[in-house]
Amino acid sequence: MLPRRVLGGLAASRAEGVDGTCRALVSLQNALCKPSDTGTVQFSSPWQQHQTRGQKAAPTPASELPLQTGRARMVVLGTGWAAARLIRDINPKLFDFTVISPRNHMVFTPLLASTCVGTLEPRSVALPLTDIQPQLKQLQNKYYAADAVAIDKDKQVVTCTEDGVEEFDVKFDMLAIATGSQGSTFGIPGVEQHAHFLRDVSNATHIRNHLIANWNKANLPTRTQKERSRLLQIVVVGGGPTGVEFAGELSSFISTRARDIRISLVEGAQLLGSFDVRLREYAARKLHNQGIHLIKVMVKEVKETELILQNGDVIPYGLCVWSTGVGPTDFTTSLPFAKTARGRIAVDDCLHAGDKSSNDDFEPLHNIFALGDCCANKEHALPALAQVAEQQGMYLAKQLNAAAKARVGKEEAPQWKPFEYHHLGSMALVGKGSAIVELGDHSKGRGLSLTGFKSWLAWRSAYLTRLGNVRNRLYVMLDWTIALLFGRDVSAW
Ligand SMILES: Cc1cc2nc3c(=O)[nH]c(=O)nc-3n(C[C@H](O)[C@H](O)[C@H](O)COP(=O)(O)OP(=O)(O)OC[C@H]3O[C@@H](n4cnc5c(N)ncnc54)[C@H](O)[C@@H]3O)c2cc1C
Repeated sequence: MLPRRVLGGLAASRAEGVDGTCRALVSLQNALCKPSDTGTVQFSSPWQQHQTRGQKAAPTPASELPLQTGRARMVVLGTGWAAARLIRDINPKLFDFTVISPRNHMVFTPLLASTCVGTLEPRSVALPLTDIQPQLKQLQNKYYAADAVAIDKDKQVVTCTEDGVEEFDVKFDMLAIATGSQGSTFGIPGVEQHAHFLRDVSNATHIRNHLIANWNKANLPTRTQKERSRLLQIVVVGGGPTGVEFAGELSSFISTRARDIRISLVEGAQLLGSFDVRLREYAARKLHNQGIHLIKVMVKEVKETELILQNGDVIPYGLCVWSTGVGPTDFTTSLPFAKTARGRIAVDDCLHAGDKSSNDDFEPLHNIFALGDCCANKEHALPALAQVAEQQGMYLAKQLNAAAKARVGKEEAPQWKPFEYHHLGSMALVGKGSAIVELGDHSKGRGLSLTGFKSWLAWRSAYLTRLGNVRNRLYVMLDWTIALLFGRDVSAW
């Protein structure tokens, strides 16, 4: 359990609405920035400092001191969709940056389900941070493999830890919080202890190893039939795109390798509720035809080897994968900022986090931003999607670059435009050679729906082209080709 700290002493100036907020940021930058002789932007706050809490700080060796350039220090928390896009697009000539995240790579989550059954290797969906922003190798920029555990907005310091015991502080001029979300359990007993979440490469590897271990155990001559059936029963809880894609990948895996495995997909509400009814019906038919048992009922409890349903049914299982939506992480919950009703960091239209004053007004913090799953607009929340997170990262980098550039050129600070989300569409793999695709924004009556093999081709090409770098594209193409020619790699280690 990571230590948490309650921070107090909140004192931000009040701004008048969104436009006021955006203008206020520019004026704050004007106040803080001093153009240097070299034309770079200087901030009046001191440089990043590190120390060990609870002990006298040891002097940092000269070789580890960041190079002093006089540029503003942007600290980015996280290396997911939002942070990766921000880090990629922020201009390294205008900002120095420190990235803090336990992961030194970004995970291409739409292809994560494929790594659970050996269609793709874990390295294929993990994009190294230094490929995303090569300037991270420069001395003035830093990556710390650590968790942020507290933020002091007045001292402009993020407290971090690698092991949950020893802590160090990192100073910031500007802070972007992009620490994502975590799988929701809805308080259902046993989920945390017994179910597997699919959020990260390490989760996918764990699921893959568990699946193969169960398959090997089930085949031992010492197993009873009852125990064998349990070991080969997989339950996927959650009928959203992630649950469906995982079940679809599994079904295509068992049709080629392990016919005895049974899959149940449990969803209390609507299967693929965000898609239009024709696509939902198509997906349900397709999953059913592939032997996936669709169960429409709520889960009451998860025991070590049994799933208890609200209708009293009991499903003995060997592997339970939980994918019922997301909620705030402990870190998000601990932060002393205004929150939405669902516990995400509340942001204004320009992605500023905010203080909550005594009369419940939102007071924007001019140099602290939140983006991606960890936050939501205080008036109109967007869904927790990669495309939202990525567009927010792109937006923030563009606004910050423009403001810093204007300052260097001694031009008038540009007006910040509010963030606007453009929904590109939704896709879900529903099994071997089949997917459902909605292109465009169907909520606005615009768009195109596809099913079947052509949508599977669209699914594959869309994700291949969206993979950030050539190395990962080659890995993915190679893995797909190897799986096609020789079958999936199901070795566990
Ligand atoms: C299996 C799966 C499939 C998905 N498929 C799709 C899809 O097809 N289309 C789509 O639009 N969306 C999809 N999503 C949702 C999408 O991945 C998320 O909306 C997106 O990852 C959110 O981006 P983010 O940057 O906010 O957070 P994340 O990508 O989750 O990144 C959070 C980052 O913060 C780091 N972090 C966490 N806590 C701390 C801390 N205390 N200090 C420092 N760093 C921290 C993490 O290590 C990570 O690097 C999928 C999600 C999953 C899990």
